Amino acid sequence: MRTLRFDIITIFPGMFESPFNESILHRARQKGLLDIRIHNLRDYSLNKHKKVDDYPFGGGVGLVMNVEPISRAIDDIKKQIPKARTILMSPGGKPFNQEKAWELSREENLILVCGRYEGVDERVGLHCVDEEISIGDYVLSGGEIPAMAVVETVCRLIPGVLGDENSVVEESFSDPLLEYPQYTRPRDFKGYKVPEVLVSGNHKNIQDWQRQQALKKTARVRPDLLKKLELSDQEKLALKELKIG
Ligand code: SAM
Repeated sequence: MRTLRFDIITIFPGMFESPFNESILHRARQKGLLDIRIHNLRDYSLNKHKKVDDYPFGGGVGLVMNVEPISRAIDDIKKQIPKARTILMSPGGKPFNQEKAWELSREENLILVCGRYEGVDERVGLHCVDEEISIGDYVLSGGEIPAMAVVETVCRLIPGVLGDENSVVEESFSDPLLEYPQYTRPRDFKGYKVPEVLVSGNHKNIQDWQRQQALKKTARVRPDLLKKLELSDQEKLALKELKIG
């Protein structure tokens, strides 16, 4: 059995209490597959008021997080886990996606640094961490929710965390395709019926239908993903007929 350990540095440790104590993350921690440790950045401030931010040089709005407490926190955590991969949550980082999540799921130790205010001193990104990652092209008020998104996405890829290992293989972005549509009871909801093929019992037809639907949906919603995919001649033709190839 393998354990993935996350060390999270934040000024709001309380934010992590509930999300990491429910559902899959909670079970993964109980099974010993996931070890999450939250560190209060203010414990690493030498300032008598536990300040961890200051005015930006050159002027500008808001406050910037100091490099020293963050550097001190990382160094302290690394005394136990010197090889930990260290990541700063940042809207200016490389995009976080399923491929990145698979890559991180193979690590043993990850340190996530959560910024706040107007961001963090540039020297954190340059000299204290291995990389910066962004969860999307939008700005949140802090790195805590991005860090939770990373933990939750990576955690479900650790062997043993989900009951059925196949569920992560067939999901959106695994191909890279968006997932095919799923239906459950009732078969008829106000006249909106479940596609006949899904109740036909013919597994080959069901698989063909699911693949076609995944292709169509991806072509419609995320055509950029299709560029990375090897399509059969038949599939290329089908998409051309739909005028989305
Ligand atoms: N002034 C910064 C800028 O324009 O890039 C935004 C700072 S944001 C208000 C404060 C912190 O939230 C960041 O330092 C980062 O840790 C986190 N954050 C905000 N949006 C994020 C995103 N899309 N991905 C990852 N972290 C994000």
